[in-house]
Amino acid sequence: MVFEVGATYTRDDVQTLLNVPEAQRGGNWDTGYNRYDSQLFVFCNVGSAGRTGHDYQNEWVGDQLVWFAKTGTHIGQPLMRLMTLGEIPVHVFWRANSRHPFTYQGLAQSIEVKDASPVRFRWSFAQPPASVVRDDPVVSSLATEADALGTTIAGMAAAIQQRIKRSAEPQEGFHPNRTGPEFSELVEGLRRQWHRQNGLCSLCERPIPLAPKNRLLQMSPDRIDSANKAYAADNVHLTHLGCNLAKSSANMADWDDYLSVVRAQP
Ligand SMILES: [Zn+2]
Repeated sequence: MVFEVGATYTRDDVQTLLNVPEAQRGGNWDTGYNRYDSQLFVFCNVGSAGRTGHDYQNEWVGDQLVWFAKTGTHIGQPLMRLMTLGEIPVHVFWRANSRHPFTYQGLAQSIEVKDASPVRFRWSFAQPPASVVRDDPVVSSLATEADALGTTIAGMAAAIQQRIKRSAEPQEGFHPNRTGPEFSELVEGLRRQWHRQNGLCSLCERPIPLAPKNRLLQMSPDRIDSANKAYAADNVHLTHLGCNLAKSSANMADWDDYLSVVRAQP
C-alpha cells in the first residue's frame, strides 16, 4: 500500500486501498484520525470547520502543518507519546474545503509538540513517504519493543516536566514554561542514555524491564549529582525505581558499600 503524495482520496478510498475489513470500517475512520495496522491515518480540515463543527485552527505555516489532536488529549496518553517520539507512522490527508476529498500530504515528521490539551503538533513533510506496512514478525516484535521503550521514556519525560513545573526554584537546562521542542530534547536525551547504559540499571547493573508489573522494577531517572537539581541529560542516569528509592541521596561510595553487603553470600 502506497498512497501518492498530492493525489486526492475520500475516507472510503483510503479504507478500500488498505483493505480494511467491512466490520472495521466507519467508527474512528469518520473522525479526525484512526489507528490501523500500527499506523495512524489523519484526516484534517485546514483553515475550515469540519462536519462536526470543530475548528481547531489547523494551519499551514509555510510547508509545515500545525495540527491539533482530539479534544481532551494530553501529552501523557500512549498514542500522543508514540506520535511525539515518531514511533508510529502518521499519514496525513488534508483539505481546505470540507465538501472536497482529502489530499495526501505524506508521512508527517513531528518537529514540535506542545504540551497542551488538545495536544498541538507541528509537522514537516520533508521525507518522501514509504510503504511502512509491518508484516515481518521480526520487524513487528522490534516495533513492539520500541513502542514499550518509547512509551516508558515519554512517560518519564512527562513526569520530569511535571516535577520541574511544580518546583519553584529556577532550573538549569529545562525551564518551567518549556514547550514541545524541549520535551523532544528531554526524550532524546533519555533515549540516548538508555542505549548508553545498554538497558541496565546504573545502580545495580541488572536489566531494567520495560512495562514491568512490579513498580519497583520500573525505569526511573536518577540525578547523578543530587545537589545539581537539573535533569539535564548529562546529569541523569536510568535506574530501577527500587534502586533509586533505596539510594536516595546517599553517595556512590555508600551505595557500593550497601550493595556489597546485600549481595554478600551467607
Ligand atoms: Zn537496579
